[in-house]
Amino acid sequence: MIFLGSWIVPVLLSPFIGSFLGVVVTRSGTPDKILVGRSVCVLCGTALKIRDLVPIGSWILLRGRCRNCGQAIGRFPLVMELAALFVALWSASLFSDGLLWASCVLGWLLLALAATDLKYFLLPDFLTFPAIAAGLLVAWLIAPASLLPNTLAAAGGYMFVAGLRYLYRLLRRREGIGLGDAKLLAASGAWVSWYALPSVVLLGALTALAFALWNKRSGAVSLADRIPFGAFLALGTWIVWLYGPLAAG
Ligand SMILES: [Zn+2]
Repeated sequence: MIFLGSWIVPVLLSPFIGSFLGVVVTRSGTPDKILVGRSVCVLCGTALKIRDLVPIGSWILLRGRCRNCGQAIGRFPLVMELAALFVALWSASLFSDGLLWASCVLGWLLLALAATDLKYFLLPDFLTFPAIAAGLLVAWLIAPASLLPNTLAAAGGYMFVAGLRYLYRLLRRREGIGLGDAKLLAASGAWVSWYALPSVVLLGALTALAFALWNKRSGAVSLADRIPFGAFLALGTWIVWLYGPLAAG
């Protein structure tokens, strides 16, 4: 009965979600414009037709160029569509039914957050707040008794980053980490609970360090280098959600 599996709807839907998330990320500086107005070419302003909005297919058919002005629109829309599909397939390999949907919602939110952080060093409230709320809702649906510990974990995640931020400002007299990261770690707490939060932070820190070293192969890594840490917290959250905390073995 594999063709009637619960994976089919989220997997088929995912490229469209990815396409929408691409718009969300591109317009994250002006969130009031995300749901209004037609899809337009960001280069020439021409309204896109339905046939230009087929995820993955349109991009490949037009070779990543606008049908009207012929300018390259870049790989970003395609990357978001494929990544959203990847999130759905990865979730479907581990979960089914309600848990699969929950996993997709988390993965898609984390994907959008990671993309806004990588592109603009931004973790917008309109993504972190729904991620916190969705995590608590899912915790409550899975086991009502987990609502309280997960709420405390969300508060703890926020306070941990806010505390680090305070210490950093005290010691270095400049901004080290944003409150967006605090809200993102709050979302992590809501989804994976307190006992898994250290794994999220550790995975986030290790992958961020690897990223910094990779970027700086030629020169020395400096503490002043700006790193989209939220993208790595999002990755850590995703891995821990799928496979559980590191120490639980
Ligand atoms: Zn155009």
